[in-house]
Amino acid sequence: MPIYEYRCKSCFLDFEVLYRSFTENRDTQCPDCKNYDVKRKISLSSFKMNRNGSSEKFSDSSDIGRNVEEKFKTHGVEMPESVRRTIDDARGGQMPKGLDI
Ligand SMILES: [Zn+2]
Repeated sequence: MPIYEYRCKSCFLDFEVLYRSFTENRDTQCPDCKNYDVKRKISLSSFKMNRNGSSEKFSDSSDIGRNVEEKFKTHGVEMPESVRRTIDDARGGQMPKGLDI
């Protein structure tokens, strides 16, 4: 289940929205000021998903974090060094702490 992080452009509140499916596409509203002008951020919850969007176990460790890379690319955001390292470690068989993969 994808979880997206948003930031309200009006009051700068950070909040998360849980979607029941990847196809669900609804207007996202700030829970605080009810503004619809919100910006989606990258969520580390994406680590749980493989590139097909399911939460099946990874059969190939090189798939780990692949969709995270794609998301950063899609959004034109430069991946932070810490995220890069976490993905590389996970691919090397070293699962990051606190992430349920
Ligand atoms: Zn707001």
